[in-house]
Amino acid sequence: MSIKVHPDISSLLPYVPGKPVEELERELGIAKAIKLASNENPRGPSPKAVSALENAARTLHRYPDGGAHKLRSALAQRFKVTADNLILGNGSDELIGLLARTFLSPGDEAVMASHTFVIYRMEVTAAHGVPVVVPMQDWRHDLPAMARSITNRTKLLFVCNPNNPTGTMVTAADVEALMAHVPDHTIVVFDEAYYEYVRDPDFPDSLQYVNRNRHVIVLRTFSKIYGLAGLRIGYGITTPEITNYLNRIRPPFNANSLAQAAALAALDDEYHLRASRSLNETELPLVEDGLRSLGIQPVHSQTNFLFFNVGRDGREVFDALLREGVIVRHIEGPMIRVTIGLPEENRRFLAALKSALDR
Ligand SMILES: *Cc1c(COP(=O)(O)O)cnc(C)c1O
Repeated sequence: MSIKVHPDISSLLPYVPGKPVEELERELGIAKAIKLASNENPRGPSPKAVSALENAARTLHRYPDGGAHKLRSALAQRFKVTADNLILGNGSDELIGLLARTFLSPGDEAVMASHTFVIYRMEVTAAHGVPVVVPMQDWRHDLPAMARSITNRTKLLFVCNPNNPTGTMVTAADVEALMAHVPDHTIVVFDEAYYEYVRDPDFPDSLQYVNRNRHVIVLRTFSKIYGLAGLRIGYGITTPEITNYLNRIRPPFNANSLAQAAALAALDDEYHLRASRSLNETELPLVEDGLRSLGIQPVHSQTNFLFFNVGRDGREVFDALLREGVIVRHIEGPMIRVTIGLPEENRRFLAALKSALDR
């Protein structure tokens, strides 16, 4: 007897996360592997968040505040919206799943770019929706083509900005043109997981669309620059109407008490945020230069990672780097993504890449 699973589920492949450092060290029998695979903050979490965690540990016998009152209020104040505009998730990943399950009926469509965050396709398919995949142009979202692919069954449209894994962004003008074409029955999801790293002044102010009551949701996370990936906490800023629908299927305690406490403290740690951004601003150009000196032209990035073509089978380069104790991400074909790490990690990555390419 075999269990019956809907083909939408059996067609999915399990998500392959970046390899943990400990696992690689065990496999290779080496110490000091480095992980530049998941766009985490190499400086670690905010010390303020860590001490808030220690405090919160004392009340672990209690359920979390399911409404996350303090954190939602702090975020509301920060972004000049109301608490009704905010919803928390067990990582912003969870919010992507809630969006798919809330707004897609079987057969409804969700428009997304060809080389973007893989969770969109997974969650849309699992909710029996249809991913409509639009090719990118120069590794950027082709927003005019995405707008043209909207039909009366399109319920979601994902704009990952800046985009993972390519690091590219779309501008305020690009987004304004898109929004002029998006009908009322389509919710635009602006996934801004790397928002705090962006330097380009043409980056869109997506919150203005929330304030104008358009059908949009802006997703942000504490997993990246805030250094809290292990705790799983992210948030969405959207209209009260959309939060109200999402709250109907949100598990009541999805944002755990440790995550809420740490996020609240991290939000207040301006120093940690600035130092993390400044490390990236110093190191990213150095890694770009290092790649260029190996004959590689990385795609221009607004994030804490670089996306580049190694001009040969990327899987082999990925494996060669692993053997040197350096974990990066193989995307597909010759394309690799590397997270900007600490200065010594970046030097080690470049040296390992040089020897992998010399072979
Ligand atoms: C890392 C990432 C997220 C989310 O992460 P969570 O840890 O689930 O908050 C969301 N979107 C993109 C594009 C990401 O790269």
